[in-house]
Amino acid sequence: MSTITTPANFTELGLIPPLLARLTELEYQQPTPIQAQAIPSVLAGRDLIAGANTGSGKTATFALPLLQQLHEEKPSMSKTAKGNYVSGLILVPTRELAKQVADTIRSYAVYFNGAIKTVAVFGGVSANTQMLSLRGGTDILVATPGRLLDLISSNAIKLDKVKTLVLDEADRMLSLGFTDELTKLLALVPQSKQTLLFSATFPEQVQTLTQGLLNNPVEIQLQSADASTLVQRVFSVNRGEKTAVLAHLIQQNQWRQALIFVNAKNACNHLAEKLSKRGITAEVFHGDKGQGARSRVLEAFKAGEIEVLIATDIAARGLDIEKLPVVINFDLPRSPADYMHRIGRSGRAGEVGLALSLIDYEDYHHFKIIEKKNKIRLEREEVAGFEVEEEFKEEYLQLNKPMAKPAGTGKKKNKRS
Ligand code: AMP
Repeated sequence: MSTITTPANFTELGLIPPLLARLTELEYQQPTPIQAQAIPSVLAGRDLIAGANTGSGKTATFALPLLQQLHEEKPSMSKTAKGNYVSGLILVPTRELAKQVADTIRSYAVYFNGAIKTVAVFGGVSANTQMLSLRGGTDILVATPGRLLDLISSNAIKLDKVKTLVLDEADRMLSLGFTDELTKLLALVPQSKQTLLFSATFPEQVQTLTQGLLNNPVEIQLQSADASTLVQRVFSVNRGEKTAVLAHLIQQNQWRQALIFVNAKNACNHLAEKLSKRGITAEVFHGDKGQGARSRVLEAFKAGEIEVLIATDIAARGLDIEKLPVVINFDLPRSPADYMHRIGRSGRAGEVGLALSLIDYEDYHHFKIIEKKNKIRLEREEVAGFEVEEEFKEEYLQLNKPMAKPAGTGKKKNKRS
């Protein structure tokens, strides 16, 4: 792992004035830890493997050096690169992330006055417009793997001029089933290139994918969630009372924006209905909503017009909502890695964030596994007015004993079930 001394400001990282001016305008006062550690090496052309979550400032970590390199190479590149070329290829797991990353890059590139072209391509919408925007090639392409392969097979783009390859949220791409697509794409990019890989977790699949891909990379591992800016809390609730507790918390705390996770599309709608009966307006964000509807909901949430957004993991993947104050696990995520992904949406870039999990009897054992795998240990709290009933407390406490004891033995039937 790297032991680079951390530069305190963006100028020391070696960034050029058009980027520095834009960062000042965006009120980025100082680099986040990953930016400080990685940008100088990336600018120097090194490969990178970084353990970093959404919210760590990872987009700027690859986007700023990429823009700078393209700006410096542009005069020579435009002579050689012709037709359907791409120079910087960024692979991302979802369409939302593709759009966000492309928007972020365009925003950083404002002072290059349109000299650097950035295109985003993703599935779920017609490919025609994307083909048109790829005419004449592009400097930067942000793409989801499936759509990119389609566009390659229809000759809309070629990868043989790729100089920089970014794999963003690599673990997500693989867990979404993009392994075959990624393998095909990796075979199409030139052997000699700079590769930057970002992943929140490093399961075996990611390690297999990276074998032979990275050349003497700089390795950076941040804490999976920034402990200094993110407060995690877990509340024990009686079965059947989660909605009531959630409504109470929302009303009591008057959060400006809360992102609530459930595990299924139907559950999004049900929860929204139940909250609405309690006077809370919530919008849902899941895969059954059309692309247009999802974008509108997201914009309204970002603009603060919607305070409560209920989402599934798949739909919310890669969501970039600046300074999200609170993320709530109404349903626990299925995997411990998903827990880190979810809570990584709060407490971003130095902001204090709150990640709450509501656990009932059924969730107790699973939450212990989440804690164990993520090396965290949280105190079980109760919400005043919704204390766990005495008759279940003993069972909760039993379940809370060390993992070696099988959980759930002698489980009593909850009268609410
Ligand atoms: P990311 O981890 O790339 O999704 O970035 C998370 C959020 O932090 C985005 O909204 C960025 O605009 C913001 N951000 C990134 N770097 C900085 C920084 N150095 N200072 C302030 N905000 C930042």
